[in-house]
Amino acid sequence: MDDMADKPTVLIVDDETLNIEILAKSLSNDYRILFTTDPTKVAYLAEQKEPDLILLDVVMPGMDGYEVCRQLKGPDSTRDIPVIFVTAMGEEKYEAIGFDAGGVDYITKPIKPFLLRARVKTHVELKVKKDILKRLAAQDGLTGIPNRRSLDAFLKAEWARAVRQGDSYLAVIFIDVDYFKKFNDLYGHHEGDHCLKQIACALASTMERKTDLVARYGGEEFACVLPNTALKGAIHQAEKIQKAVSALRIPHLHSDVAECVTLSMGVVSVVPSKGHDVESVVGVADRLLYEAKRGGRNQIKFAQCEL
Ligand code: GH3
Ligand code: MG
Ligand code: MG
Repeated sequence: MDDMADKPTVLIVDDETLNIEILAKSLSNDYRILFTTDPTKVAYLAEQKEPDLILLDVVMPGMDGYEVCRQLKGPDSTRDIPVIFVTAMGEEKYEAIGFDAGGVDYITKPIKPFLLRARVKTHVELKVKKDILKRLAAQDGLTGIPNRRSLDAFLKAEWARAVRQGDSYLAVIFIDVDYFKKFNDLYGHHEGDHCLKQIACALASTMERKTDLVARYGGEEFACVLPNTALKGAIHQAEKIQKAVSALRIPHLHSDVAECVTLSMGVVSVVPSKGHDVESVVGVADRLLYEAKRGGRNQIKFAQCEL
């Protein structure tokens, strides 16, 4: 019955409830409407509710709409939400301030419902398409899990966060499928792709914390980033991954180490500190993975990384 969940969301901000009612009435057939009369709550609401567009009054007590908009354009989480100013101040200089503050459009009161709907529609459609592109750019095409680009960005951000926090661990697991070239040679590339998808799915299913990330690093290599995780917890996670993939029991008759598909892993935990960068820990994880390969594969090598 309730199809609201499928509709894009518009957040209306105006200190006059009558104005909110007028705007909401024009839009409520096509959008889910949220509203507030308190400009100081907009940043929080936008972050929590993730609206697809914000209609923002300019003159409000406490904080004007321009300032609200500037606030929204700061954090990653709200920067890309289009803001349309709705105001009685139609002069050019005010419009210029609105665009400078990061607004995408400007509508003057009294509202013409047709114009309002047309402009909202245009900017919501653009926003939704941008969201799709952003998601695709962050995703691995074969497996649907985050790609290398996402991993690099996440790792950099988590490193910086840990440095700011001070004294907090960051763990990384590098994962490589054993004898995967032989797997492709024996079963074909198509089966190889299917195998990678199954592994990605198993990896994702082992991740319990929302703050953890698993990504396809490239080819038959995957990586996990575990914020606030010391070595012991990271090894535990690697063992869970090993069990999950072993439980898939994907036959690999040309593997030299087992009859099923197995993984080698390098696990490292570090306390990030100023003056060092994330490449140091990536290098250690890579070296440990190499040691796991040299040590016979189907195994986990780990180390605490001292900077
Ligand atoms: P090792 O145990 O030392 O890791 O040996 P390996 O054969 O797994 O490693 P190598 O790096 O020699 O070969 C990796 C293989 O992974 C070769 C490549 O064709 C295959 N591969 C990489 N990406 C894909 C993919 O997207 N799909 C399929 N089917 N195969 C892939
Ligand atoms: Mg490899
Ligand atoms: Mg391999």
